[in-house]
Amino acid sequence: MSPIKAKGKKLFIAGPCSAETREQVLETGRRLFRTGKVDMYRAGIWKPRTRPDSFEGVGAKGLPWLQEMKELTGLPTTVEVAKARHVELCMEFGIDVLWIGARTTVNPFAVQEIADALKGVDIPVMVKNPINPDLALWLGAVERLEKVGVKEIGAIHRGFSNLGETYYRNRPQWQIALSFKAERPEIDMICDPSHMCGRRDILLEVSQKSMDLNYDGLMIESHITPDDAWSDARQQITPEQLDRLLDALVYREDQEDNAPLQSELDKLRAEINHIDDELMHLIGNRMNIARQIGEYKKSNNITILQKRRWAQLLDKAIAKGEACGLSEAFIHRYLEAIHDESIQQQETVMNG
Ligand code: PEP
Ligand code: MN
Repeated sequence: MSPIKAKGKKLFIAGPCSAETREQVLETGRRLFRTGKVDMYRAGIWKPRTRPDSFEGVGAKGLPWLQEMKELTGLPTTVEVAKARHVELCMEFGIDVLWIGARTTVNPFAVQEIADALKGVDIPVMVKNPINPDLALWLGAVERLEKVGVKEIGAIHRGFSNLGETYYRNRPQWQIALSFKAERPEIDMICDPSHMCGRRDILLEVSQKSMDLNYDGLMIESHITPDDAWSDARQQITPEQLDRLLDALVYREDQEDNAPLQSELDKLRAEINHIDDELMHLIGNRMNIARQIGEYKKSNNITILQKRRWAQLLDKAIAKGEACGLSEAFIHRYLEAIHDESIQQQETVMNG
């Protein structure tokens, strides 16, 4: 079976969010091929849409267009499948790689149905992360495919849905993808900045971030006339813009064999380890005091949580954090974690 990605090389997948017409599929293919940088052509044939009146994909009639595009350019093709029938049709029309979309990965019944259809079939499958930040669900989908004998599996990080989010469409949670990678280092991790960003202007910065984290490749939506796209118009770029984006990326090597560089890094890491130890020690001291406060509250019959005190603490910390170059979001998360632990310690004292 051909590997999804050549060893040591980044895999660049591009193509429209949706196949719309034969001409659009072919013209996109020609222009992507001309960049000389694209390894695989993506297109949505069946589209999972949030609202029922949206364009739901051209369906099976788009599959021969992809075949024709492949004959013309030699680019292998990849299509999203959400049910058994999609798998059968893709096999029938010679699609090279399948992917499971974020809205399908969340549903073990749907993933199992796809897995069952893949029994005895020799085709690579890429699994997008589920829309909610649940690592186990993502890994579980991969395991369902492995159980039926799918040999070649890739993972795609496309970000996670987040209520009230304005900057991203689906916020990347790099830590979740890195945890996936830590658990399954042999599985290639592709970044899909298009669905993370939902807009064109930050595609480059997110793509660069994924390259800095040593992702194995990118999947980026590209359309010949992005503003007129039938789905995801705001995030698509032309093949020529894609060419420039890929040119602008900087590839940093992990440099594990470079001794002088490594020793400089080791020095900095030692400093970090030292600071981490100190932080742990200080947090321990802080909890000691929290327990003393617990004793005091207990003997004076005061509630543990005092709202005014918490609001003051937060305001002060945000101002201080800002002066140290720390984001407000981080200060919130940090203080909340400290505060939770502190309350628990006080509770132990008060109930003890
Ligand atoms: C897509 O790739 O066009 C798509 C529907 O993506 P996701 O499953 O990440 O929403
Ligand atoms: Mn899309």
